[in-house]
Amino acid sequence: MQTQILERMESDVRTYSRSFPVVFSKAQGARLHTEDGQRYIDFLAGAGTLNYGHNNPKIKQALVDYITSDGIVHGLDMWTEAKRDYLETLENVIFKPRNLNYKVHLPGPTGTNAVEAAIRLARVATGRHHIVSFTNGFHGVTMGSLATTGNRKFREATGGIPTQGASFVPFDGYMGDHVDTLDYFEKLLGDNSGGLDRPAGVIIETVQGEGGINVAGIDWLKRLEQICRDHEILLIVDDIQAGCGRTGKFFSFEHAGITPDIITNSKSLSGYGLPFAHVLMRPELDKWKPGQYNGTFRGFALAFTTAAAALREYWSNDVLERDVQRKGRIVEDRFQKIAAWLSEKGHPASERGRGLMRGLDVASGDIADKITAQAFKNGLIIETCGSDGQVIKCLCPLTISDEDLVEGLDILDASAKEALS
Ligand code: PLP
Repeated sequence: MQTQILERMESDVRTYSRSFPVVFSKAQGARLHTEDGQRYIDFLAGAGTLNYGHNNPKIKQALVDYITSDGIVHGLDMWTEAKRDYLETLENVIFKPRNLNYKVHLPGPTGTNAVEAAIRLARVATGRHHIVSFTNGFHGVTMGSLATTGNRKFREATGGIPTQGASFVPFDGYMGDHVDTLDYFEKLLGDNSGGLDRPAGVIIETVQGEGGINVAGIDWLKRLEQICRDHEILLIVDDIQAGCGRTGKFFSFEHAGITPDIITNSKSLSGYGLPFAHVLMRPELDKWKPGQYNGTFRGFALAFTTAAAALREYWSNDVLERDVQRKGRIVEDRFQKIAAWLSEKGHPASERGRGLMRGLDVASGDIADKITAQAFKNGLIIETCGSDGQVIKCLCPLTISDEDLVEGLDILDASAKEALS
């Protein structure tokens, strides 16, 4: 395997190639292949970007057809047939059945672009500057979104430039099971001397991805929505990782029956791993002036095409939703068994998640690294998350076959035992 040029030329900032130091060449569904013929099962799936698997044949066909017809690829934010088809599909397949009404902002194509746009919109729409985020939240690493990201590793990488305009309150469960952390937030909001500037918006992941698969309770989310309404604060749900079906509903907040003012999606939105993001906003919040927020890559027609194909294929009925719930229970069951075995061996461990966004918390980054490194040797790609990397995170494609799912779980189970026996 020829890796010298990769090691020599690519910046030290690279990450995943350190955990998985092989050269990948092909992929299909939940399977990855290296140039020298090794096969891996993929429980990472582009950190939640490949919910429909690698090179999904149905989505690929739409892409190939579009390219071979000389469909326009780049159109700035001009109107294109591909954009019109995407918006029509989004409205018909996603919004109408859910009784939702949003306008769509197409910012640059990454998650952090969408978060930057969302928090700036909250500021423009309210005339207030402050954003409230939650402990362990991860919303991106550009300056605006970084201000709402908790992890010190990313925050310290600004070279000493302070991030501004956001502060943190405790996420659900942060103070232990018996404290409702929203009591604190609500008290601060009602206290003229509490030190919290009246926020423009609150940004939240309903299940924190990078922060450790921390699941916000349904009642807690409902109460958060109510607090936001009572105080005229915009509720921004960052559904970049938890959205597009990951938790078993297209939007992760559907489980709680809440209606955010602003939503961000990216990662699996294109359905094919193409860069794509959008911000959804209640129509009356659309206070943007033309061109006030721009970017060259706002109209990536290939991503419109694959995104529309993915919505039509997977969200016109509830087959995938039900399948995600079923497969989620398979992962939950196995993670619980692995956690029980680890706990018996003196390594306290527990399982948590929603749908197919699941974590195995082994309480130590070192132990999690040992298990995932062993899993890689045994043919499984899976990463860790959490404040100290102590949570092993399953983000397998939602469309994974039962055989691949069980094989991946078998590998993880055996790897935990090999790594810690
Ligand atoms: N928001 C959430 C919830 C994420 O999980 C991520 C990335 O992991 C981002 C924002 C940032 O997305 P990107 O890495 O595409 O900038």
